[in-house]
Amino acid sequence: MTVLARVRDLTRRYHDTTALDGVSLDVPAGQVLGLLGPNGAGKSTLINVMTGLLRPSAGSVELCGGDPRSESTRRVIGVTPQETGLPETWRIAELVDFVAAHFPDPVDRAELLDRFDLTPLADRQAGGLSGGQQRRVAVALAFVGRPRLVFLDEPTTGLDVDARRTLWDGIRSFHADGGAVLLTSHYIEEVEALADRVVVMDQGRIIADGSVAEIRGQVRLKRVTLTDPILPPLSGVASIERDTDRTHLLTNDATALVRELVTSGASFTDIEIESASLEDAFLAITGDRRTT
Ligand code: ADP
Repeated sequence: MTVLARVRDLTRRYHDTTALDGVSLDVPAGQVLGLLGPNGAGKSTLINVMTGLLRPSAGSVELCGGDPRSESTRRVIGVTPQETGLPETWRIAELVDFVAAHFPDPVDRAELLDRFDLTPLADRQAGGLSGGQQRRVAVALAFVGRPRLVFLDEPTTGLDVDARRTLWDGIRSFHADGGAVLLTSHYIEEVEALADRVVVMDQGRIIADGSVAEIRGQVRLKRVTLTDPILPPLSGVASIERDTDRTHLLTNDATALVRELVTSGASFTDIEIESASLEDAFLAITGDRRTT
């Protein structure tokens, strides 16, 4: 297994805040790794230290065997930080060409624009685009140099559903060609849709690391969904959520709950039992730590 990013005992402090507290992580070639965590967990700091934008207080980062700040390393990675500013008067095609000029074997401009559905915007000035369009351009630019590893910090925040799906398709096609991605996201479904592996951070540390299924499995929560229930008081229900016509009961023991529902004579139709979502698991993992 080729390791593209090797992070060892990384610590980063801002004055008296410890944003990263001894993080170690390997990112292998070809993997899409989703980094999850509540606000302030240290995700952006980790990406910024890994990509050489910030210096660590202690510990080390190796990217493709080199220093993240060296020019040869920068040629094999792509980065879209959380805050991106595009030069307002530049046309999108010019921007792509400018970035491409920094790489030995860039992606063909037309192919890149097509992959990210930006062809209709090629002749538009960056400053005249909507925030969401600018974001799509900023993400696409990370892929221009045929990187081996791309870092995306909240790539689709603020995008509508169609634009998000277009970006997902672009990321998937890069992954299908063997590319590796480390991405953070506020949208759990984005991580669920794209990632091979999920790393959960909280308070500067990694608190869970596994496949989507493994992270889900770390909590035994099941989601029992009912229509039109009239429920007696029930034991063993972690939480109840209601949407327009369905009621969802989260429980650690679905069998016992179903037994209790039936013997109590509760009225309901259409029972459905499924594993908790990644979001349920994420909330349970980070929530548990905060209450202990
Ligand atoms: P996340 O990306 O998971 O939301 P961040 O990496 O942005 O987390 O932040 C981690 C911690 O470091 C937070 O407590 C945040 O307030 C703090 N922090 C981040 N950037 C700075 C900064 N420039 N100065 C001081 N504290 C910062």
